[in-house]
Amino acid sequence: MKITSAKFVMSNSDASKCPSSNLPEYAFIGRSNVGKSSLINMLTNKKSLAKTSGRPGKTQLINHFLINETWHLVDLPGYGYARVSKKDKKTFQKYITHYFRSRKQLVSGFVLVDCRHEPQPIDLEFMQWLGENAIPFGIVFTKADKLKPNALQRNVDAYKATLLATWEALPPIFITSSSNNTGQEELLHYIHEINES
Ligand code: GDP
Repeated sequence: MKITSAKFVMSNSDASKCPSSNLPEYAFIGRSNVGKSSLINMLTNKKSLAKTSGRPGKTQLINHFLINETWHLVDLPGYGYARVSKKDKKTFQKYITHYFRSRKQLVSGFVLVDCRHEPQPIDLEFMQWLGENAIPFGIVFTKADKLKPNALQRNVDAYKATLLATWEALPPIFITSSSNNTGQEELLHYIHEINES
């Protein structure tokens, strides 16, 4: 699938006010600075559809984009930003969990993790929560260009091993780089296949 049109629809912090149409929806989430905005821009071939973060933790909203007039791409706020107050973290958790629990149109979440880092508790806990709530998701490794192929493979394998220590099966896994378009085709193909099924 190629993305031929991508349009901003709306931002809000209330899942019940998200677009009411029944278009399938895919939501991207991850720690601040993981490369989420860059990935969304790469997937959509737009330079600045999602705002890349000069100030991490700033975009605390649920952002809907209409893709090819047929599905929604959702840019969720980055989590785990140290300078966000406790109160803000709570509010954030509340509306993100509300979004994932209540959004009927959601087909899959994508949790982004930086391929250079060891599994982080905050990401593992979030994936665990998605699993426990039966919310489908994939894992997207970002910034693959920052590692040599061997090191990348080692890190991905180590990540999988960590997950398999407590999980029976792995979610779909994608390896991406926004710098050189790695993974664009695989990720869009995955979404396309689900939309067509
Ligand atoms: P967000 O906070 O998750 O939206 O992250 P951004 O997309 O704003 O990216 C955070 C930083 O990582 C920026 O300096 C980006 O240029 C950089 N970055 C994002 N994706 C990649 C990538 O695939 N490769 C490299 N080398 N840098 C990246």
